[in-house]
Amino acid sequence: MRLRHSFQWAGQTWRRVLNLAFLLSAMAAGPALAQQRPLLLQPERVFDGEAFHTGWAVQIENGLITAAGPALQPPPQAQIIALPGMTLLPGLLDLHSHVLLHPYNETPWNDQVLRESVAERSVRAARHLQATLEAGFTSLRDLGSEGAGYADVGLAQALAKGVLAGPRLLVAGPAIVATGTYGPKGFSENVAVPQGAVEVSGETEARAETRRQIAGGADWVKVYADYRWGPNGQARPTFSVEELKAIVDTAAASGRRVAAHAATDEGARRAIEAGVSTIEHGDDVSDATLRLMVQRGVALCPTLAAGYSIARYQGWGGSAQDEPARLKAKRQSFARARKAGVILCNGSDVGVFRHGDNALELELMVAYGATPTQALRAATATNGAIVSLEPSVGRIAPGYLADVIAVKGDPGSDIQVLRQIRLVVQGGEVKLQR
Ligand SMILES: [Zn+2]
Repeated sequence: MRLRHSFQWAGQTWRRVLNLAFLLSAMAAGPALAQQRPLLLQPERVFDGEAFHTGWAVQIENGLITAAGPALQPPPQAQIIALPGMTLLPGLLDLHSHVLLHPYNETPWNDQVLRESVAERSVRAARHLQATLEAGFTSLRDLGSEGAGYADVGLAQALAKGVLAGPRLLVAGPAIVATGTYGPKGFSENVAVPQGAVEVSGETEARAETRRQIAGGADWVKVYADYRWGPNGQARPTFSVEELKAIVDTAAASGRRVAAHAATDEGARRAIEAGVSTIEHGDDVSDATLRLMVQRGVALCPTLAAGYSIARYQGWGGSAQDEPARLKAKRQSFARARKAGVILCNGSDVGVFRHGDNALELELMVAYGATPTQALRAATATNGAIVSLEPSVGRIAPGYLADVIAVKGDPGSDIQVLRQIRLVVQGGEVKLQR
């Protein structure tokens, strides 16, 4: 990973920044670990990414966690923040976001891609990023700009320069689709319609476009291994295994990994065969393919919140009695994935729904049968291991980046308290305290 993701400083205009001293010292220091006054956080309990501990304190120095455990003595000149009744957790990660999209019930996806300027979309994204950080999500993997080119790379650069406040942002650039399979579609043959991702066919074009997207600033490569191009709009596989391999091998040569959109079993199987690192959605993945994911160490980002939100937009009231069939099926495939022991990623597809509501994915994991602790592990230690930043994120342990949040209450017994954010610390800086 590049250094720009490690150091993101708050912008002056962020109303809720309370600790001006930290802000000024960080800005003066520029892109390096700022010399900060040590922080000692004293919550009621700590979730360290794996398990809960009571009576722990957490010490932060120069952007890193330097100690976590019982009976910690504050270092000299430490700022002590008492957090009574609160739980301290690693800053949350969402590994499937689209900060350049906003909810489809506000503006359909086609209209966002075809009618909104990149400038408008980028200004919206800046607000989305701020809302995301305020919701306790300190890192995002953004999986495709959906027609906004490399605006995501520009946003990541603006974050690194302190122009914006927001989560650490790993980006995929425009993403890669098979020719003729993506959207917007349904126009006259006389109209050349810009697409929501870059189209390629064949191994040569696949390699060339992967290289272009990496050159353009992609941290991850996003590929659509299937899409809704069946005779009746059903999801069907798009690329051959050879084409997918060309993308994965090219990305791997550069030290990058590939995230594959796959709702169908065959699309997922080909993507796994080709060597991708994460499967996005995975709605209809068979038990055999789930076993293959376990064998290859491929993680599943189930995006439960996307299907849920779209069903709500289509008029479903949210009650179990009339839950749409596709959500019932999603519930079952999520249960099968957990039973198979697949690495569970927290990836929500936020952008389909409101930025800052990222916790909806964890709430649905619990509603669909995971324990709160399993959902929290996915959004912290597991996601941190998947993105493998340096220094690491996703745990409260010495040497990890000091991205931590405090919530009111105990998310181990009630996942809903993730909505009660009281403190956000990013890279050792207090970004929000209320
Ligand atoms: Zn998505």
